[in-house]
Amino acid sequence: MDNFQEQLFGPQSFLQFTLANDSVVGKSSLLIGNNIQVDLWGRGVLHISPQGDSPINSILLSVAVHGNETAPIEIIDQLVSDIFAGKIIPKHRLLIVIANPEAIKANSREVDENMNRLFSPYLGSYSSDSDERRRSRKLMAYSRDFFAQEAEQKIHYDLHTAIRDSFYKQFAVSPNTNGSAITEYQYALLGQWGIEAILSTSEKSATYSAFTANHCGATSFTLELGKVKPFGENDLEDFAAVITGLQHAISDNVFIPMDHKVALRFRVVGEVLKQTEDFRLCFPSNIANFTEFEIGDVLAADKDFEYLVKKRGERILFPNENVAVGQRALVIIRPL
Ligand SMILES: [Zn+2]
Repeated sequence: MDNFQEQLFGPQSFLQFTLANDSVVGKSSLLIGNNIQVDLWGRGVLHISPQGDSPINSILLSVAVHGNETAPIEIIDQLVSDIFAGKIIPKHRLLIVIANPEAIKANSREVDENMNRLFSPYLGSYSSDSDERRRSRKLMAYSRDFFAQEAEQKIHYDLHTAIRDSFYKQFAVSPNTNGSAITEYQYALLGQWGIEAILSTSEKSATYSAFTANHCGATSFTLELGKVKPFGENDLEDFAAVITGLQHAISDNVFIPMDHKVALRFRVVGEVLKQTEDFRLCFPSNIANFTEFEIGDVLAADKDFEYLVKKRGERILFPNENVAVGQRALVIIRPL
């Protein structure tokens, strides 16, 4: 049997090849079994398209926007191997993206700056730009090209793991707030994958998923799948439902039973910005995401400002007082 992965990547996997080669050299296109065209568009950017003319979806799967979030990287590396081996037969167009290879090599969340604040079409281009800025510009261009093609549904799953504990272990952030049928369908699907909570947000942000939602016409999600661990220490059993869900979504084998698990829904009601160097958060630094507070609790204090809980059910997300002045230090959410 043809070893298609070897024809494209030699003895390496997609991940190993991406880390070892900072530009694409040699063969970059291949027709694999089941008439599936595979093209390496660039470093860590693999386009997989079943040939034929039936209407299909375009699914973007991205990992390693934060380089140390290893479980999703392992998941998609295995997925790519399974596709090459014919164990998974994609029925939809896929773009599989390893977003920040240099940060993976450095065993680090980022090399110079948080890439998930850099997916903005308004990002200027300067000679002093960080690796992350150069890379995010390329990824935005690839993503636009990918989603420019006509598709029944355009979907983006950006896979992460979180630094801190979470009251809901697996959750999604959804920048699409239009409540379309496709979005609702995806919410049901994610519930089935074991995603416990979904947070909708219309806050303008420059995350990868917000970029594809706002500028590529995609239904997009940032998926937080558990806690950050080093390579080799992830128990992929913890991710079994998500892995199965992805495999089914790719191979068009989706069935959502009437009694599927339903993710709880939240929305963002506020963001607290760090205004001065005096800024501090008023709760323990190891607190879990989705922790609920009481009315009147002080959550953050700054030079001339305090954030008090105003309404019942307010919970916190992504607290980080070590951000730069002017950046978001805390997100406040409530159940829908
Ligand atoms: Zn992340």
